[in-house]
Amino acid sequence: MQESIPEAGIERAVEIMRSGKLHRYNVAEGETAEAALLEREFADYLGVDYCLACASGGYALHVALKAAGLVPGDKVLTNAFTLAPVPGAIHNAGGVPVLVEIDENYCVDIAHLESLMKTGECRFFMISHMRGHLADMQRIVDLCERHSVVLIEDCAHTMGASWNGKASGTFGAVACFSTQTYKHMNSGEGGLLTTNDPEIIARATMHSGSYMLYERHGAGPDAAVFDDIRLDTPNYSGRMDNLRAAILRAQLPLLAENCERWNKLYRTAERGLAQISGVAMPRRPENEYYVGSSIQFRVPAFDSTDVAEFIDGCARRGVELKWFGSKDPQGFTSRYDSWRYLGEAPVLDNTLEILRSTFDMRLPLTFNTDDIDTIVQIIREVVRGIQPGE
Ligand SMILES: *Cc1c(COP(=O)(O)O)cnc(C)c1O
Repeated sequence: MQESIPEAGIERAVEIMRSGKLHRYNVAEGETAEAALLEREFADYLGVDYCLACASGGYALHVALKAAGLVPGDKVLTNAFTLAPVPGAIHNAGGVPVLVEIDENYCVDIAHLESLMKTGECRFFMISHMRGHLADMQRIVDLCERHSVVLIEDCAHTMGASWNGKASGTFGAVACFSTQTYKHMNSGEGGLLTTNDPEIIARATMHSGSYMLYERHGAGPDAAVFDDIRLDTPNYSGRMDNLRAAILRAQLPLLAENCERWNKLYRTAERGLAQISGVAMPRRPENEYYVGSSIQFRVPAFDSTDVAEFIDGCARRGVELKWFGSKDPQGFTSRYDSWRYLGEAPVLDNTLEILRSTFDMRLPLTFNTDDIDTIVQIIREVVRGIQPGE
C-alpha cells in the first residue's frame, strides 16, 4: 500500500550508486552533494533560512532540543497523544517530558497547557501535530512568548499543512519533519530540521556529525557562526546520505499535489463516516489546511469489549484500524502510560477518555475514492452489528 518512488528519483539514485559517492561529504571540488541540494530546496519550499537533513525524524527532534539549548533535567512540555519517538527524543536529549492533555479534536488542550506553563518550570514545548491536527497556532505562539517557553514543532504529520496560510513548521524556534516511509515524503528513513536561527542550525549541524565540513551544507549559516560552536558541540552522528536525498528531491515537487490527493480521500472518508450513527468526527477548523494522510474517528458508546469486537470485525473484512486506547502497546501505537521509562504516568482523564474510543486509519495514496466508499460501508455495517455495552 505504498506508491513507488518517482522514476527521476530512481534514476538519480542509480547514478549515485554507480558513482559510489553515497556519503554527503564525498564531493569533488565545486560539486554539491545531493543532501546539500535537498536542504536548500526544502528550506526554500518552507520559506525558511536553514535546513539540515538527518537520519530520522526522531533524531531531528533530539538534536533540535539540544541545539535549542536544553540541558539535562530541563522539563519539556509535549502532547500526551503522540508517537513514541517524541518522548523518546526528549529522554534522549536528557529532558524530562511533561505530558499535556489533548482535546476531542486531537489537539493539545490549551487550558491545560497554560496551567502547566504558569508553573514556570518548563522551558520548552515540543508540540506534536499528531495525525496532522493543528491546534490554534496563534494562541500557542502567544502563550509560549508570554511564558518564555521555546517552541519546537514536530511536523511528522504536517509536512505540507498550514495554519492561517502560514506553513506548519514556521511557528517555533525549530521544526522537525520525518521522511520515513509512512509520512508525506518517503526515503525509508530520514528527517529534516528547519529553523531561521543561525546558531541553532550551526549547533544542529555539528551534532549531526558534520566534522569540520559544515561549509558543505546547502542551507547553513555563514562559516563565522561556527567559530565557537564547532568546538563546543559534540558529534552525535546522524547524517542523511545522498541516496535518500536524491529520492526525496524527486518527491518534493509533487508534495503539494499529493497533499490534495490525500485530502480528497480524507473528505470522502469524513463525509461517509460522519453519516454513521454513533460515530463522532473531529472538527477541522477553517484556519487549518490539513494533509489528510490518515483519519481518526470515535465511537463514544463503545466499551472495551465493543472496541475489540469492532476492530476484529473490520479486520475480518480487510479494514485495518488502529486503536490508541490499549494499555498494552501494539505495532506503531502506544498510549502515554506505557512509556514506563518516564516514571509514574500522570492520570490525564480527558486524553484517556478520548483515546479509549478513538480509531485511526491510514489513507494511502494507492487508494481511490471508490476504495474509501467501500471501506466506509464496511465500517458502517460492522458498527451497526454491535450493540454498545451488551
Ligand atoms: C514518525 C513520527 C516521528 C518521527 O519518526 P521517525 O520514524 O524517527 O522518522 C515523530 N513524531 C510523530 C508524531 C511521528 O509519527
